[in-house]
Amino acid sequence: MIYDLIIVGAGPAGMTSAIYSARQKLKTLIISKDFGGQMAQKAVEIENYPAFERVTGFDLISKMEQQVKDVDIVREKVIEIKKEGNLFTLKTESEKVFQSKVVIIATGAEPRRLNVLGETNYLGRGVSYCSTCDGPLFKNKEIAIIGGGDAGFETAIFMKNYASKIYILEYGESVKASLDNQQKAEGIEVITSAQLKEIKGDNFVNQIVFDRLGKEETLNVKGVFVQAGYVPTTSFLGQLVELNERKEIVVNFETFETKTKGLFAVGDVNCGKVKQIVVACGQGATAVIHGYKYI
Ligand SMILES: Cc1cc2nc3c(=O)[nH]c(=O)nc-3n(C[C@H](O)[C@H](O)[C@H](O)COP(=O)(O)OP(=O)(O)OC[C@H]3O[C@@H](n4cnc5c(N)ncnc54)[C@H](O)[C@@H]3O)c2cc1C
Repeated sequence: MIYDLIIVGAGPAGMTSAIYSARQKLKTLIISKDFGGQMAQKAVEIENYPAFERVTGFDLISKMEQQVKDVDIVREKVIEIKKEGNLFTLKTESEKVFQSKVVIIATGAEPRRLNVLGETNYLGRGVSYCSTCDGPLFKNKEIAIIGGGDAGFETAIFMKNYASKIYILEYGESVKASLDNQQKAEGIEVITSAQLKEIKGDNFVNQIVFDRLGKEETLNVKGVFVQAGYVPTTSFLGQLVELNERKEIVVNFETFETKTKGLFAVGDVNCGKVKQIVVACGQGATAVIHGYKYI
């Protein structure tokens, strides 16, 4: 079967695209590794999504997911996209193949890896990128959060529910989190000018080594939460798109179309400067309207 529209990714951008596409009566498929995307990593409540004064990431995901109706769903990773003539062919990790006239890329961004010694070895054994997923595992334990931006501070605020002691290590001379988040993080020890060098342990993490102003220092912690920013998920797109210096997809900001006709990119994966849920939703809706016109 040939779909009218395939959406890759089911974060807020992808789910909104699916809602709009179904309402346009397009034969639609959404392929995604999971539903919710980065909203699942939201450690404190969301306070800037209209109609909800405060809402947890999980509640917002579940409300959006309930509204995704009359579309086919495949829970998998897309590994390749090609265009031949007017048709796109998408291949998933399990070698399933799907075809459509229009594709919307809504694959967002994933946590930036630090590429320090021990980071990969201890993944799932003390190293985590998601406090809402793994936080409870660190009850009464000492932990370090790497990154002094809002994501790092929000992780720290959430982890106050569990950890016995929390350090935030910031590479720069001062933290970048909002004053509001800094105030909420009272009691947390912030170490600036700290560059993580290695994560050590036996079966599980038990120590981090970092450089501070040219001197090597250590902290004995059982958990390391990496919050060092996000990188757009684009590796499967090959030559179909143009990427900017931040590896984001370049789009036309009126339609969200990429350099390939019929291929759109919305949400955090594109070169838009504002990375927010409400923005991702708006772009998803806009792209579907233009995709419909293209068909
Ligand atoms: C810690 C944190 C706190 C935040 N707080 C706020 C906030 O308070 N308010 C706000 O407005 N925004 C907030 N944001 C930003 C907001 O979450 C993002 O802007 C938004 O989630 C982007 O949506 P998206 O749909 O573009 O991408 P994402 O949410 O990243 O979703 C991408 C989806 O694509 C899937 N995917 C990726 N690659 C593939 C593939 N190859 N095949 C299939 N599926 C794939 C992923 O599994 C995921 O489901 C926060 C972000 C973080 C990380």
